[in-house]
Amino acid sequence: IHPLLFERILLTKRLSTMAYNALVSKQREYFLSGATSSLKARKENLNKLKQLINENTDELCNAVYRDLRRDPRATVNLEIGNAIVEIDYMLSNLASWMEPTRVQKTHLTALDTPLVYKDPKGVVLIISPWNYPIAMILLPLIPAVAAGNTVIIKPSEISAHTAKAFEDIIPKYFNEEMMAVVSGGIPESTALLKERFDHILYTGCPPVAKVIMEAASKHLTPVTLELGGKCPVVVEDDADIETSAKRIVWGKWLNNGQTCLAPDYIMVSQKTKPRLLDAMRKVLVDFYTDEPKSSKDYSRIISERHFDRLVSLLDKTKGNHAVELGVPDREDLFIPPTILDVTREDVFMEDEIFGPILPVMTVSGVNDAIAYIKAGEKPLAAYIFTRSEDKVKKFLTETSSGAVTVNDVIMHLTVDTLPFGGVGNSGMGRYRGKYGFDTFTHEKAVLKRPFFGESLMAVRYPPMTDSKSAQ
Ligand code: NAD
Repeated sequence: IHPLLFERILLTKRLSTMAYNALVSKQREYFLSGATSSLKARKENLNKLKQLINENTDELCNAVYRDLRRDPRATVNLEIGNAIVEIDYMLSNLASWMEPTRVQKTHLTALDTPLVYKDPKGVVLIISPWNYPIAMILLPLIPAVAAGNTVIIKPSEISAHTAKAFEDIIPKYFNEEMMAVVSGGIPESTALLKERFDHILYTGCPPVAKVIMEAASKHLTPVTLELGGKCPVVVEDDADIETSAKRIVWGKWLNNGQTCLAPDYIMVSQKTKPRLLDAMRKVLVDFYTDEPKSSKDYSRIISERHFDRLVSLLDKTKGNHAVELGVPDREDLFIPPTILDVTREDVFMEDEIFGPILPVMTVSGVNDAIAYIKAGEKPLAAYIFTRSEDKVKKFLTETSSGAVTVNDVIMHLTVDTLPFGGVGNSGMGRYRGKYGFDTFTHEKAVLKRPFFGESLMAVRYPPMTDSKSAQ
């Protein structure tokens, strides 16, 4: 590297570090002034956010089209609609959630009032990924604002068009003391993480989550880590195979398989496998025609690097290509819908696939499938298709995952009264609805005491006597 260029990089880094420090200080000062914490301020900010989304839906969805070639109408359904619902949900519950809650007393505090106060945390950092580049910013942003915090957003540099759209739009609605976007990639993110935040919510992959957690530990900043993993699907012989196939295909090929909750692999018996493969092929053709490359509903891989990773796995797999509707095209970042019949040793059974390739593995039954899931890392979601309540019960009690949807995939995410988050390798912490409000709120224990009632407390005062210690 040329010395002058090196010097320039160092200077840019120093300048951005200074700018981030100034930005965080400005937000902290604003937060400490109390400007964000009243019910009125929180509602105003949420309404402004709603206005921002409504007035810029086209611009945001067109940016996602340029990043992922996803039909803007699908983006409205997948990323805009749920954000609006979330804001409305916050607006209608905020007043009661903010109220201090009374808790049960002990006999020693019979005359007192124990309460839990709901304090905002302060300056929140949201670091988001590229796969749902609107929702992965808005869904954590909404509860962070509802909880009375200021927010710095670091969008993914990989979904560059959407990142730029947010960078342009947010300053039109919010001053940077309240909400700011920091663009850039790993160097910017690394510099930003040197600052002290009051909460960090990161969405992405486990290796980077460790970097985030390490940086947060320097300031003892709490983190929420929303990660991915291999989400298993078990299809039992007693399931409605046609309906199962339709639901699995929808969830797998949505956003070209680049969904944290996408079915990663299927486990099915030898007996049911041919029917399931046949049904999934039919659904794929129904959804995307037999030439998905020309279908406007079929999205693309985000980048050449991600394309190359998937194609190199396709080169290495020993699985049988049960379904393959086209050939990969690097220029177009197109990988066809592909279903592989694989063994447990296959390369596709190692890491999260995050693409339009679905391995199907044979198991001897639900016990075998559960044992396989338990031997691996805990997934973000696990799915089972069956008519048997006993099998569902067994699956729910014997496996651990962030969530389970029975007889469908992904749909638990649409219920904002359910917590959303992982466990173990798929993450820590949760958000959505009240869980989101709680994540960005500090629950402060408060005990209010009157001046009377001293006799009740006499036991605590020295000098200690035998009769006091017996009480
Ligand atoms: P990523 O970690 O590469 O990027 C996410 C963000 O982290 C980006 O803003 C990026 O700039 C930043 N970043 C990357 N490396 C960094 C580093 N070394 N130091 C500091 N910051 C860094 O993740 P991705 O590839 O964008 O996301 C894909 C992953 O996200 C998948 O595993 C998927 O399953 C997961 N995901 C999870 C959820 C969820 O809610 N649980 C949702 C969407 C995606």
